[in-house]
Amino acid sequence: MIRDLISEAERFLGEQNIPAPRLEADVLLAHALQTDRIELYKNPDRKIGGAESEVFHMLLEQRTSGVPTAYLRGKKEFFSRMFQVGPGVLIPRAETEFIVEEGLRQLGASPPHILDIGTGSGAILITLLLERCDATGLGTDKSPAALDFAVKNSELLGVKNRIRCAKGNFFEPVEKDEKFDLIVSNPPYIPSDKIPEELRFEPKEAFDGGPDGLRDYREIIAGAFKFLKPNGHLVLEIGIDNRPGLDQILSAYPQYEKPIYKKDLAGIDRVIILKKR
Ligand code: SAH
Repeated sequence: MIRDLISEAERFLGEQNIPAPRLEADVLLAHALQTDRIELYKNPDRKIGGAESEVFHMLLEQRTSGVPTAYLRGKKEFFSRMFQVGPGVLIPRAETEFIVEEGLRQLGASPPHILDIGTGSGAILITLLLERCDATGLGTDKSPAALDFAVKNSELLGVKNRIRCAKGNFFEPVEKDEKFDLIVSNPPYIPSDKIPEELRFEPKEAFDGGPDGLRDYREIIAGAFKFLKPNGHLVLEIGIDNRPGLDQILSAYPQYEKPIYKKDLAGIDRVIILKKR
C-alpha cells in the first residue's frame, strides 16, 4: 500500500542521510506511479504493482547514491513553472529566482531585448520572457547539451517565437549591431578547488569559476557594455565572498555606474546590478 511504502522509504532515505526524507519519498513515489503527491494522500490504501514497486526501489537506490531528485524526475520547478532538466544541464536553484526579480525591476516601459549568458535550462531568460510578454531574448551557452534543454523548455513554456538559443562562448552568438536593454547571467562562480562533492552529478562547466571563482565575471564585465543600450543594465548572480573581487575588477571599468549589490533573504550578497553610463 502507498502508506506503507512511503513510511518504509522515508526510513530508508533518512538512514542514508538524505535531507527531507519524507518529502523525497513522496516525490519519488509520485514519479514512479506517474501521478502527483496529492493523489498519494487521497489514496493511501492503493495497492502497488510489482513493476511500480521495482521502479520506485530503483529510484530510491539512485537517490541514495547521490543522483539529484530533479534528474530522477526529469524536471524542476522554478518561479512556479516546470523546467525540464537532466544530466548535462544545471538544475535551476531557488536562489536564482532573485536575479529574475531584480532583472524585471530594471526594465523600462518599451519592449525589452534581453541577453542571458550561460542560459542552461533557460530558467532565467524564459521566466523573464513569461513575466514580460513584450520581451524578446537571446540565450547563449557553450554546452550543446544545456542548449537542447533551453530550446525544449522554450517550446514547452510557449516562448519559442520570442527567443533565440545559440551555442557559443559568452557574447560570441550576438549578432552585429544587436543591442540589449538587459544582460543577465548566472555564471560559474565557485573556485575550482572548492567545488562541493554533492555537485558531482551536474556539469562542471556550470559552476567552475576558475582559481578565484571570478574568471567569468572578468569576461562578462569586460564585454557587456559594448552590447548594452545606453542606460541598459547588467545583472549577475554572485557567490559568497565574490564582492571584494568584483569591486576590484570594476575599478577598471568607468563604463558602468557604481555597482548596486542586493542581499538575499539569508543576508548574503546574491546579485550585482550594473548600469551602463
Ligand atoms: N542560467 C542557468 C544555468 C547557469 S550554470 C541557471 O541559472 O540555472 C552556467 C551555465 O553557463 C552553464 O550552462 C554552462 O554551460 C554555461 N557556460 C559556462 N561557461 C560559458 C561560456 N564561456 N560561454 C557560454 N556559456 C558558458
